[in-house]
Amino acid sequence: MVSEKTPATDFASARNDGLLRVHARFMQEALQQAREAAEQGEVPVGAVVVLGDAVIGRGRNGPVARRDPTAHAEVLALREAAQHLGNYRLEDCTLYVTLEPCAMCSGAMLHARVKRVVYGAAEPKTGAAGSVLDVFGYPQINHQTEVVRGVLEAECTALMADFFRQRRQENKARDRVLEPHPLKDTALRSSARAFAGLQHWPWQPQWRSDLPALAGLRMAVVDEGPQDAATTWLCLHGGPAWGYAFRHEIAAWTAAGQRVVVPDLPGFGRSDRPKKDKAHSAAWHAEVLAELVQALDLREVVLVGQGDGARLGLAVAERMPQRFRGAWLVDAWPLAAQPDKRRQWFEQAARKPSWNVGEALQALEGKTGGAAEQQAWNAPFAEPGHRAALKAWPRVQAELPAVPAQLLAQWAERQRLWLQPDASGKLVTQKEWQSAWLQAVPQLARHARVWRLNQSATAVPAAAQDMARSAVEYFAA
Ligand SMILES: [Zn+2]
Repeated sequence: MVSEKTPATDFASARNDGLLRVHARFMQEALQQAREAAEQGEVPVGAVVVLGDAVIGRGRNGPVARRDPTAHAEVLALREAAQHLGNYRLEDCTLYVTLEPCAMCSGAMLHARVKRVVYGAAEPKTGAAGSVLDVFGYPQINHQTEVVRGVLEAECTALMADFFRQRRQENKARDRVLEPHPLKDTALRSSARAFAGLQHWPWQPQWRSDLPALAGLRMAVVDEGPQDAATTWLCLHGGPAWGYAFRHEIAAWTAAGQRVVVPDLPGFGRSDRPKKDKAHSAAWHAEVLAELVQALDLREVVLVGQGDGARLGLAVAERMPQRFRGAWLVDAWPLAAQPDKRRQWFEQAARKPSWNVGEALQALEGKTGGAAEQQAWNAPFAEPGHRAALKAWPRVQAELPAVPAQLLAQWAERQRLWLQPDASGKLVTQKEWQSAWLQAVPQLARHARVWRLNQSATAVPAAAQDMARSAVEYFAA
């Protein structure tokens, strides 16, 4: 609320008709600036600086187009006025602005020693002239600025409301074009915007809701390269990742003329998320993937499985081995019982609603990608209620069928298998991991070439692309 010490005037209760007309006239000029901002797609805020009877500075909000977080209407108007006067002090000036100024702009007005600030609409979230803060209300500050509120308030408020209403409608219309698959009541969907402009991720998914096991859920599937390619790389992520895990490999394989298919499992990435964690089971995920392989008629498939995505992919390969040529499995744990650290990691992800997925994944990958990659990992979980799959995952892991030892042994025999440990070794040591695989598939002891030990972090773009190119040679038909 307004501090008692603020020299403030509520416009509605002001009595001086002449002054009212003056304020209204200059606020119209500020509104004109605000409308021009709206036309540029900026939040419509406009300001003018008035000295005597003349406007000496104009500004309209422009942080987006100017790529400048300080490009608020008031700052720009103050700048123009100071240029006009040849003096940064604007002592006898009045600043009119359509919206209550923020802390930055209020501070700038104090620096400029503006005599009076007149605003239209209150800004209950960030207003610093009485609503949230009252920057002008401190008697300790030498310079006192008079505040006049509520000038053409209805018009200023309506301009903002119209702008945001129109923008919501435009966003909805755009989402409808991009997302024709209706969202089920039992599911949630991430907004397309959460995934727009991610670093290293130019691929648009194809949307599928036609697989019977999906029961109307929409699934994101990146499908790049020719359908009749000699090799198809089927890339399956584990929890809590999504197709982004394969960002560096996709380009290398499409450049080699091969097909790359990267689905986001239901509940992950850009695919719809069932609201209830009970919807998730290992059998269901494997069924969805098997139906996808059939629907896309994938042949000569090399399964690229990361984490538990490897296990789900192996379950599919066991059902239709004629479609699969081999597998490259990264950070896959082959036994029912997991090492404590790995189990605890997934239990934390399941239990803690604010668990920072991006930070946790980056810690495993070695923090190579910075904030942009963290954003990509967190994009699926930006909204509350979107973590049912994480909650379900420890149970899903316990349900995973045993690895198909026979098939894996055959692939190893024909040099169609790569096994690669987690790069960091933070959750599972390389030794633990290798002995677990030897326990699951004893025949692997005879095949030194399957072990891809001591590989550099898969998150390093050049290293990942190098490995992807070696994989092209190794897995060639
Ligand atoms: Zn501001």
